[in-house]
Amino acid sequence: MSSKNFKNSETNCNCGCQLNVMIQVNMMLELVRAWAKVFYNTVNVAVIVTSGARCRYWNDHEEGYKNSEHMYSIACDFKVKYKANGKWEQVPPKMVYDFLNRMFPNSMGLGVYDTFTHGDLREKKSRWDERTKK
Ligand SMILES: [Zn+2]
Ligand SMILES: [Zn+2]
Repeated sequence: MSSKNFKNSETNCNCGCQLNVMIQVNMMLELVRAWAKVFYNTVNVAVIVTSGARCRYWNDHEEGYKNSEHMYSIACDFKVKYKANGKWEQVPPKMVYDFLNRMFPNSMGLGVYDTFTHGDLREKKSRWDERTKK
């Protein structure tokens, strides 16, 4: 697992079609990375993208919402991990969600799931919690 800065290709559509997210999505991820470094007092922070841009074909394949922001290259699902006492631990997705909610209280789409956080750059604020256990 790498703690290096984000490589653009990680946010590409997972079908291999090269569709990528807008640069602002990467900036959002870098903001989360910087926060986690300060919060956990470590340089060993990894942001792991599970799904960035999705073309229509891949969105259908992944059973995404019909009008998912992922198809418009403005969304990303991701996990954040940090190394403590030699072990990688996941930052609870709700904490990542709360951080972004504090930073952008009046905009963005933010969703929290059991294993990852969704962030997108829509203008009209939207929030959801899809965790099965809270
Ligand atoms: Zn694709
Ligand atoms: Zn998503």
